[in-house]
Amino acid sequence: MPELPEVETVRRRLEPALVGRTFVRVEISDPRLVRPLEPQEAAQALEGERVVAVRRRGKYLIVCFGSGRSLLIHLRMTGSLRHGPTGSLPDDPHRRAVVTLDDGTDVAYRDVRRFGTWTLLEARELDPYLSARLGAEPLTRTFTARALGTRLEGRRAPIKAALLDQRSLAGMGNIYVDEALWRAGIHPLRPAGELTPAELRRLHRSIRGALAAGIARQGATLRDYATPNGEPGTMQLELKVYGRAGERCPRCRTAIEKMRAGGRGTSFCPRCQPLTQERVRPATPTRS
Ligand SMILES: [Zn+2]
Repeated sequence: MPELPEVETVRRRLEPALVGRTFVRVEISDPRLVRPLEPQEAAQALEGERVVAVRRRGKYLIVCFGSGRSLLIHLRMTGSLRHGPTGSLPDDPHRRAVVTLDDGTDVAYRDVRRFGTWTLLEARELDPYLSARLGAEPLTRTFTARALGTRLEGRRAPIKAALLDQRSLAGMGNIYVDEALWRAGIHPLRPAGELTPAELRRLHRSIRGALAAGIARQGATLRDYATPNGEPGTMQLELKVYGRAGERCPRCRTAIEKMRAGGRGTSFCPRCQPLTQERVRPATPTRS
């Protein structure tokens, strides 16, 4: 499933292709994609729009138009975007929409499981829509260890569940949460509100480090994700614990285990990520 690094990679590749271009023709073949609008209605609304920016917030890709409107694209489980000269993209039974641009290129949207969404919003609707759904943006300057602590304060949920919750922190999913917790040496079932200031600092650094590594490697291709050129990312080769149950921890050589946390299959190192906090307890008292 595409997470922040995958969506950011798509954004960086699409931005130069889209900015300044006009949507000349829009074909939407899957009614689920644009609900509650009808496909024809959404296509008509999009035709003639000129792109002024391509932004990202959490796992949303935001195509901003000169009219002030924006198109929010969420890839969910298996959505992906391809860009190429009109007519050059191979036939695809899972293609759900095609946008023809005024420079003779197409942006095609493919989605096997069909959970992805295209949401067309008016200018005044964008901020309320996003702020109702998304918390802090982890790669911004305002996201500090202290800000992370504030988000987690008083929460009894396991840290794994708290980090998956898009309303506390936007953009992380199963892969990068497991990687960040391993980097930080924090057990996935630790209650989120009980992390010490030292652990919060480590976790903050680890979240940013794991996401930055993912972006640097153009994302992780485990199933359907590909860049808009159709190339895979390479982050899957660099994952330390995700998908590696039974293999040795790259740090301590203990076998990586898999368990259930936050309702998801979770990989962790039982030695580097102890549930009891003995190794770090003397450092600083837990906030009460
Ligand atoms: Zn280990």
